[in-house]
Amino acid sequence: MKALVTGGAGFIGSTLVDRLLAEGHAVDVIDNLSSGNLGNLAQARANRDHELTFHQIDICTDEVTALIERREPDVVYHLAAQADVRVSVTNPALDARINVIGAINVLEGARRAGARKVVFASSGGTIYGEPDPADLPVNESHPLRPLSPYGITKRVFTDYLIAYRELFQLEYTSLALANVYGPRQDPHGEAGVVSIFAGKLLAGDPCTIFGSGEQTRDFVFVDDVVDAFVRAADKGDGLLMNIGTAREVSVIELYRSMAAAAGVTAEPLYAPARVGELERIALDPGRATMQLGWNPWTDIDTGSRAVIDWERSRSAT
Ligand code: NAD
Repeated sequence: MKALVTGGAGFIGSTLVDRLLAEGHAVDVIDNLSSGNLGNLAQARANRDHELTFHQIDICTDEVTALIERREPDVVYHLAAQADVRVSVTNPALDARINVIGAINVLEGARRAGARKVVFASSGGTIYGEPDPADLPVNESHPLRPLSPYGITKRVFTDYLIAYRELFQLEYTSLALANVYGPRQDPHGEAGVVSIFAGKLLAGDPCTIFGSGEQTRDFVFVDDVVDAFVRAADKGDGLLMNIGTAREVSVIELYRSMAAAAGVTAEPLYAPARVGELERIALDPGRATMQLGWNPWTDIDTGSRAVIDWERSRSAT
């Protein structure tokens, strides 16, 4: 398969690139390195057996469409995005330019190239808004009520995918990702708290929890997420699919898991809650289990240890 990964120098994208290359696929990466970095692709690029081509280009430019057309991928994985919810609130026009207009440029490239499929990184943590606790874990029939400009763009682009399937028979799967965590993560993403805690715990600095710590997230490990992307190359056509664990983990529970992995016994500090943050979220992955044969294999303690080990080896070099 010829795969093209936008955002392939980012946290999730580069992990996906590693997996695709390991499976023997040829991979084109498109990334403008605005939040990603080439260090994430260093191992992938060092292996001469890998068919990997990196293109430093902004998806907001017209040239990206022509580039994708020329490269003729079979499957386009679209992960490039402005991925910070708070930036979307302060600069919604920038957010829409990248996450809607840029995404359309990519979609047009896929269509003109005659690609078989687009697999999109949507956001289950934002497209459903603040669900009624009785609806948790939410499934895909829950109303889409995003409360941030970022969540709106993730909802809207799935509508484009639906329309392109009808108009041009270009297949898609839209993966509504929970809070993704793991090695290579930056503090700015939707599960940035994991990366922040890891850095502070290993530096011996206190961690701050905003609010009571009882607020919950659905933390899903990056390798499991990447597994869903790979499976979606030829399954789950025409569907929105939750990629989460169905399990609510409170921020205090996350702290305890990570502190144990780091060998820290100190208690966290508390600060006032941040305005506009969700209280509770968890995603029911039943559809992905049925359609993709996917499961969230990694539990939070195993994932926490992987993050701490990675952060430790990074700070040692
Ligand atoms: P990331 O910031 O590490 O990756 C995004 C990548 O896109 C970066 O490498 C960045 O340089 C690139 N990019 C940004 N703007 C670009 C542009 N205009 N042109 C070309 N490249 C551009 O974030 P991530 O956490 O790896 O997220 C990947 C995708 O998954 C995003 O679409 C994000 O919205 C989505 N997502 C992430 C999470 C999460 O918890 N991390 C949850 C739900 C959805």
